Amino acid sequence: AQAAEAKKTYTIATDTTFPPFEYQDASGNYVGIDLDLLKAIAEDQGFEYRLQPLGFNAAVQALQSGNVDGVIAGMSITDERKQVFDFSEEYFQSGPIMGVDANNSAILSYEDLRGQRVAVKTGTEGATFAESIKDQYGFTIVTFDDSPQLIEEVKAGGSVAYFEDYPVVAYGIAQGNGMKMPLPKEPGGAYGFAVKKGQNAELLKMFNQGLANIKANGKYDEAVAKYLGESS
Ligand code: GLN
Repeated sequence: AQAAEAKKTYTIATDTTFPPFEYQDASGNYVGIDLDLLKAIAEDQGFEYRLQPLGFNAAVQALQSGNVDGVIAGMSITDERKQVFDFSEEYFQSGPIMGVDANNSAILSYEDLRGQRVAVKTGTEGATFAESIKDQYGFTIVTFDDSPQLIEEVKAGGSVAYFEDYPVVAYGIAQGNGMKMPLPKEPGGAYGFAVKKGQNAELLKMFNQGLANIKANGKYDEAVAKYLGESS
């Protein structure tokens, strides 16, 4: 008989600060919808993991180079990313939206961005969207590595607007970050858990099975309601 095989511990990378999906609470613990879902799914499927909060772009790079087994980071499922990653089933709807300072009444449309600076986060769907319209509307893009820097930049007046995922912008506003959304959200990919293409198929399968189970047993709704309230 074979010796009992040591159970594999998966390394899963995430963003550093992307509330309500992942962020540090007052005691420095990583919390958020993504992390509650991952925990519930791992419990349901009986796998172990080690969390690596690397930041979004770094997490995606680490997955691509095979340094981590998976990424859960409010990562949008896009056709471009599907070339290099395999995604789970969708677990949350998203799409980029423009945020501006709540006191700024001059930016009501993309036309108002002409000649102005706009802040985005490296490697994100919001950045790709801003790139896709910047020539048409004549604005300049400045790039930052994490989400809180986008708000700081707009507050300080360095940029008049930022592009970020709708659920994250809306959550920040609800938390009182002093921003507002003058326009509706743009179409975008829903969030999925990612592995490197052709790798960790067993992990992806467990994620999908666990996701289906926690949707059926109420743990998915519980995790979302914990951060967004019952109405979500
Ligand atoms: N959903 C966006 C993307 O996948 C942003 C993710 C993030 O910043 N954590 O590009």
